Amino acid sequence: MDFNLGEDITAIRNMARKFAQNEIAPRIAEDEKNHAFQEDIIKKMGQLGFFGCPIPETYGGSDLGFLAHAVVTEEISKVSGSARAGFNMQTMGTAREIYQYGTEQQRNKYVSKLVSTEYLGCICITEPNAGSDTGSMKTKAIKEGNKYILNGGKNWITYAQVADVGVVYAYTNPSHKYKGLSAFIVDMHSDGISSGPTAEKMGWCACPTGEVFFDDVEVPAENLLGGVEGQGFTFLMGSLDNTRLSAAAGAVGVAQGLIDQAVAYANERRQFGNPIGKFQMVQEELARMIVETEAARLMTYRCATQKDEGQLHNTLETSMAKYYACDVASRVADGALRILGAYGYSTEYPVERLFREAKLYQILEGSANIMKMVIATDALGYRKANKD
Ligand SMILES: Cc1cc2nc3c(=O)[nH]c(=O)nc-3n(C[C@H](O)[C@H](O)[C@H](O)COP(=O)(O)OP(=O)(O)OC[C@H]3O[C@@H](n4cnc5c(N)ncnc54)[C@H](O)[C@@H]3O)c2cc1C
Repeated sequence: MDFNLGEDITAIRNMARKFAQNEIAPRIAEDEKNHAFQEDIIKKMGQLGFFGCPIPETYGGSDLGFLAHAVVTEEISKVSGSARAGFNMQTMGTAREIYQYGTEQQRNKYVSKLVSTEYLGCICITEPNAGSDTGSMKTKAIKEGNKYILNGGKNWITYAQVADVGVVYAYTNPSHKYKGLSAFIVDMHSDGISSGPTAEKMGWCACPTGEVFFDDVEVPAENLLGGVEGQGFTFLMGSLDNTRLSAAAGAVGVAQGLIDQAVAYANERRQFGNPIGKFQMVQEELARMIVETEAARLMTYRCATQKDEGQLHNTLETSMAKYYACDVASRVADGALRILGAYGYSTEYPVERLFREAKLYQILEGSANIMKMVIATDALGYRKANKD
């Protein structure tokens, strides 16, 4: 596989790198401290085309592909997890999902507005008693004439309090279990929808996360994703294959951000008459961090490239990339903290914030255990991960 990025992807990567350094980095610590949603940053990212890589031009994207998406995500994540979240809220879990599974009318109505950030998006899967076990969700959408009546509650929803449009999963026929699950495109300003913040988080504080309640919300039948009931689980699994790629790229980004900080500090900090980078044990730590991050990057790029080559449902390779990259991010965070010593533990340097950001990747979009289950059950022959 050739990971030569070519001119167009290199250009957007450089643009993202510059944007992250010039626009996000100078204020991220303050915005995280104040829990201030960086809406202007997200909107600018939309205007610069960062959210449109895996979307065709007809629907407002650039058609640069999944590898471009991964590379841009990585650059933003080096500096901020909160800004990285936009890649799933505006692209993979909403615009891309609607493009991949929606009707032509749905694509025309929503995709370009999500990519440009005219609409902010959210993905509503998780419920208080349905985390990894998504099938146990209780939200229902019952058809009445030409609309559905949506009832239920979701939590841990990124952008819950600010979203204009949500992709919401609900049972249209609970007795059919997985085959009774459907997905809806919901106007989040509809009557009957209320939201509020979740419990305080340890990181990603410049990105709102909340609960959403649906109380007799009327959803037009034309907003049933793909126009067919009972496809929700298939759409959800397909979409997770995309959002997990974003998570893997985000994990590679935060790991690289931590390495950059650790290298700079190891050159600057002097102990026993030498920069600490001269000590072999510090070098060993750095070498491990660098090699693991590079391996995670290669797995992530492979996964993206397979998708660019048409293998969209590469669940096995996606799960491997997501599992490995997200665990590496935590190990690298630990290494960076060791190298910075007391200064790593202080809020004076970004390492403690990036450390907290890295931890989320082991939970989001399918925990590390769930990824290992996919990988091992495929190897054991219990359940094939790649369906096509
Ligand atoms: C900041 C943040 C933002 C989020 N944003 C969104 C969002 O936008 N939309 C959305 O729908 N959700 C969102 N989530 C929810 C997230 O997707 C869930 O947290 C995740 O799916 C895990 O669910 P859980 O936290 O309930 O953990 P649980 O499912 O309760 O798991 C707890 C532990 O048990 C383990 N476990 C569970 N089942 C098994 C098993 N069968 N075998 C082995 N181990 C198992 C897990 O690996 C984990 O270690 C967000 C969460 C956070 C923290």
